[in-house]
Amino acid sequence: AEKNAAQPEFLQAVKEFLDTVRPVIEKNEEKYKKLALLERLTIPERIITFRVPWVDDNGQVQVNTGYRVQFNSAIGPYKGGLRLHPSVYLGIIKFLGFEQIFKNSLTGLPIGGGKGGSDFDPKGKSDNEIMRFCQSFMSELYRHIGADTDVPAGDIGVGAREIGFLYGQYKKITGLYEGVLTGKGLTYGGSLARTQATGYGLLYFTEELLKINNKDIKGMTAVVSGAGNVAIYAIEKAYELGVKVLTCSDSTGWVYDPDGIDLEALKEIKEVKRARLTEYKNYRPNSEYHEGRGVWTVKADLALPCATQNELDLEDAKTLVANGVVAVCEGANMPSTLEATEYFKEKGVYFGPAKAANAGGVATSALEMSQNSERLSWTFEEVDSKLKGIMVNIVHNIDAAAKEYGKDGDYAAGANIAGFLKVADAMIAQGVV
Ligand code: NDP
Repeated sequence: AEKNAAQPEFLQAVKEFLDTVRPVIEKNEEKYKKLALLERLTIPERIITFRVPWVDDNGQVQVNTGYRVQFNSAIGPYKGGLRLHPSVYLGIIKFLGFEQIFKNSLTGLPIGGGKGGSDFDPKGKSDNEIMRFCQSFMSELYRHIGADTDVPAGDIGVGAREIGFLYGQYKKITGLYEGVLTGKGLTYGGSLARTQATGYGLLYFTEELLKINNKDIKGMTAVVSGAGNVAIYAIEKAYELGVKVLTCSDSTGWVYDPDGIDLEALKEIKEVKRARLTEYKNYRPNSEYHEGRGVWTVKADLALPCATQNELDLEDAKTLVANGVVAVCEGANMPSTLEATEYFKEKGVYFGPAKAANAGGVATSALEMSQNSERLSWTFEEVDSKLKGIMVNIVHNIDAAAKEYGKDGDYAAGANIAGFLKVADAMIAQGVV
């Protein structure tokens, strides 16, 4: 812990994990100790760090740092997204990679845990600059990945455009037309419903979580943070399920729309224009735009954080609870601080932790891998119904795991326990490697 002190997000993720899987560890203490299982679990199999030089539109050379953390391959090839954001450093990628191990395990599909990215800031860059960066990034990354080795995908700052540039460069260097990346465009191996998967999956999860607690999602209101891939498709599915969404946000401000967020306007601003939320008011004069953060101050039944880590702290949790929030389900990775999570538990709020609630994205990525392997494309309905089945299963599995270890209703514990048991079993079976 001391040596990792400069990686607070990684420590936070490991602490949350260890605190909640304690009953399993206690039950198997001697065996795990002898096998150094927890030490092996918390040290990545491999960390790759590399230089990413590229030339901007003024002819100036820029340099960023690239990362790929291949954390655990016990149950399948490494799988996890690439994040492009100025806040990226090794501690962020390690926290995301660690979480990814258990998330991927929970999907029930054969995928190990990994994550990567760079401190490159895509904001304000031209398409050509994005392309040159992606090509340079892949010129090094290609030697470490492959359809059966490590299959990256998107995350913050990496969408269809970036995946396209990365894929083109991989293909050019290796000569291989293979499923080495997921989130690809539909014309070159992408899967229908992958774009929607994380957001849709979050709502399928939330619906089922409420259902097992005898509550109906229909007619509820929700506050959503973020305005990216996860937030947009969470809002879309929320409307389909009869939930009214009152807010969304980006890193500069947030919107409150008393009539419900206008999804078409949001898509146009974010997906087509790649603009800021300040524009939203032009579409909806009745809405309010505020600088800074504040979506958690709006009263609603559901809170769905879909932006980034640690965006919901204890103060926010108190406000949400005072406003009568029923459930909090995490679309982003680790959006709630440890204190906020504890508070929700204490107050009896149904809490869907990220590694379970947002697993629909990676699950559908694994379905994209299946389609690439058999060189077939499934219909939207086929993928979407598989996604829904996976999310419903996750809810039941984490509920059962929590109950089995005396933590009834603690879905964060249930998710960690269920995800961990499968990985631990596979690691032990494969010997000390
Ligand atoms: P996008 O880049 O599409 O969108 C991210 C959104 O969050 C944007 O609105 C962005 O605002 C906002 N945001 C990012 N960083 C910050 C910050 N530091 N402070 C405030 N707001 C911020 O990313 P995704 O929607 O793909 O990812 C969102 C979250 O969901 C991440 O935690 C990601 O790890 C997680 N996730 C994503 C999956 C996927 O399939 N895409 C799968 C599982 C989890 P702005 O535009 O101003 O930067």
